[in-house]
This record gives sequence, C-alpha cells and structure tokens, in this order.
Amino acid sequence: MNKLTVKDLKDLKGKHVLVRCDFNVPMKDGKITDENRIIGALPTIKYLLDAGAKVTLCSHMGKPHSIFSDEVKLNKKDKAKVEKGETTAEAIIEKALKDEPKKLTLAPVAARLNELLGGKVTFASDVVGPDAQAKVAACKEGEAVLLENLRFHWEEEKKDLEFCKKLAKYADVYVNDAFGTAHRSHASTAAIVEYGLVKTAVCGFLIEKELTVMADSLDHPVHPFVAILGGAKVADKLGVISNLLEKCDTLIIGGGMAYTFLKAQGYEVGTSLVDDEKLDYCKEMIAKAKAAGKELLLPVDTVVTAAFPDPIDAPIETKTVSSHEIPADMMGLDIGEKTRELFAEKVKSAKTVIWNGPMGVFENPILAAGTNAVAQALADAKGATTIVGGGDSAAACTQLGYADKITHISTGGGASLELFEGKVLPGIACLNEKE
Ligand code: AMP
Repeated sequence: MNKLTVKDLKDLKGKHVLVRCDFNVPMKDGKITDENRIIGALPTIKYLLDAGAKVTLCSHMGKPHSIFSDEVKLNKKDKAKVEKGETTAEAIIEKALKDEPKKLTLAPVAARLNELLGGKVTFASDVVGPDAQAKVAACKEGEAVLLENLRFHWEEEKKDLEFCKKLAKYADVYVNDAFGTAHRSHASTAAIVEYGLVKTAVCGFLIEKELTVMADSLDHPVHPFVAILGGAKVADKLGVISNLLEKCDTLIIGGGMAYTFLKAQGYEVGTSLVDDEKLDYCKEMIAKAKAAGKELLLPVDTVVTAAFPDPIDAPIETKTVSSHEIPADMMGLDIGEKTRELFAEKVKSAKTVIWNGPMGVFENPILAAGTNAVAQALADAKGATTIVGGGDSAAACTQLGYADKITHISTGGGASLELFEGKVLPGIACLNEKE
C-alpha cells in the first residue's frame, strides 16, 4: 500500500477533517438492520477524535433524487417510465420530495454513531446549507458532525465544481474511508481532491485494511490460489474473469454465469439464464485457461426447476440433474451436491481463496444450499487466506455466522470486484502517495 493513511497525519489538533464514510446501511422502517459499515468506520473516526480533530463526516444513503438541488433530476429508470406514459415527471418528483427526506436520511446513522462514540456526534440536516455550515463551524476539538445524505444533491454524482468547493471548506484535511464507493468518481469520493481543492488527502484504516488484504493477495497470492465467481450474468464480470484467470490456479464458476459457459461447451442448458452474446467470450476464456494451464471448473450437477420462483422465495419443486443433461424445459437455479463437494475439495487444498457472487438463487432457501456450501468451505479452510468480495456472498457468510472464520469480508461489493478486475479505484488513486 503506497498511499498515506491517517496515521501519517501530524498535528491534527484543532484541524477540520472531512471524512468520506460509507454509511449506506440497510434500513427497515427507519431502523438500521445491519450496522457493519458503521462499525467498520469507527477506528478512523475514533483516531481522529482522540487526536483532537474537528471531524465532519459525510456519506450517501441509497439512490435518492436530487431533492436538495434547485433542479430535481430523473434517473434512467424514471425517464423510461415517463416515456412509456406509465407516470409523469411531476408525480415522480412529488413522491421523491415527500418520501425521500424520511426514507433516505442519515439521521438514524448519526444517532447510532452518537451512541457508539459517547455523545460526540451531532447531525446536520443539510450538506452545504446553513445548518451544516453552522454546525461544522461550532464543532469543537474531539467532536464530529455528520452531514445529511450527499446524494440529495445531484451535484455529488456529477462532480460539480461549485459543490466540491463548498465541501472543501470543511476540509483542512480529507480522509477517504469509504471503500464501498471507492470505485465511484464522485464529488466527495475523488473530485474534491482531483480539482486540487484539498492538498492533504489520505485513506482511513478501513480502506487501508481492504487494500492491504485484497490487493496483496491478488498481487502476491500464496498458491494454490482458487477464485470463485458466481452471480447472475457473465456480461457483468468480463474483466474479472479474464484478470483472475491470469492470477489464479483454479477459477470456479457457479451461479447463473455458469450456463453460458456450459452452452459454450456445447451442452444443453434448457431454459437456464444464458447470455448468447457472450458465448464467444466464454469460448475465448476456456481457451485462455487451457493455454495457460489453468483449471476452469464448472458445475457438474445442477438443481433445476420448471420455472423461476415467483415470488422469488416461493416454495418450489426441484430435482438435481447432470449439468451436461439439463432437460430442455427446465432451468438451473443452484449447483448440485456433487458440485458443492467438488468446489469444497478445491477450497480445502488452497492457500488463497477469493469469492464473489452467489452459486444460485440464494434468496430462496430451497436454492441457497450451493451458496451456503461455498461459505462453509471458506470458513473451514485451514491455513488459507480467505477473502469474500462483499455483496451477496458477504451477507451469506455473515448470516451463517462465519464472519469470524474468514480472513477478510469486504465492505464493498462493486469496489472489490473492480480490484479483482485489476482496475485502479478513483477514490484511492487520488490520495497522496507515500514518499
Ligand atoms: P450478481 O449481482 O451478478 O452477483 O448476481 C446476484 C444474483 O444472481 C442473485 O440475485 C441471484 O438470485 C442470481 N442468480 C444466481 N444464480 C442464478 C441462476 N442460476 N439463475 C438466475 N439467477 C441466478
């Protein structure tokens, strides 16, 4: 890791420090249902408070409309609905203005942080408005202010210069500790530094930990190195598959993605999810693996159903068939038992394992066995570095109570996938380098 961290900062006493966190926590009826991201941010915040800094915390929550901006912007989905005549722009805006201040506010996060940090956190009801400005100005050494949801301004995602300038007023020093959004180039994640508005820009402990474990394991893996990929579509993971094939010894592919590979090998996959446009890509990857002497493992058996469950967690009838003989009128929705054993056996003999993406439609308990088996295999892997790249796979490990048995569960699904792809993350690239 060649970036400066909060530990490299000197003389923090009395300085205004702006910290970009990822407090985009799941909420239900105004209550936080998983506070992992809040807990993950605490070491950096505590360090800064103990050093006597005046801390301003900021984050996004969900995908709101720009209700704090002069002009409310519609997203692509909204525009499509308006074009189809399903609704009007006015109706969307009216609903957003009514619901989102309550649904997507960071106020509950501020309350929880305040509990966890012994009453040192106040909440500002805007981002760059009068309340935030007054509260940041009144912030004392060793105290923190959490600003309202950054994405209530469209300016955040569009890297608006004037918005960045206003944010930069809170920052003698800028700290990025939001690994979950480090792959996004937004005002608060990168532009504020890229525009030269803050000179001292470092990473927090969470980003440092994520990078140290994941980048080091990818760049200098202890072999055998097994990578496991799942999830819905091949198209979403083109770069990841190709990059991992270069680094690992065995690439395991499960989930919906596997059927495009199986079809590319000439097998019947029934009504399973297939990305026909990516058949040639899959053939190319199969050839790439062969030429490089890498093992590319696909499911040998598959749990099939007559139709996709509707609703997704509805009870369904399943049977297990060979992955090479999926009946033409059936779809594969999970890996079968033989495959679970095969994949677990590979994990057992590995020294480095990374995993991203479910092995089946795990939202349905009847189709979660494959995903759970992979989580179990990682938890059982003795003496190996095991890394779970956020998202659904991380949730599966946590729900099964395996969090302590895995070396690292990333807080960023999208960001960790981009690391697996070998990409440079803008939220990290912009930070100051070590001398
Ligand atoms: P991703 O966002 O690409 O990681 O995909 C996650 C989604 O893939 C989950 O919602 C799963 O239900 C879905 N998925 C996994 N396996 C399958 C499958 N065999 N067929 C359809 N969807 C799947």
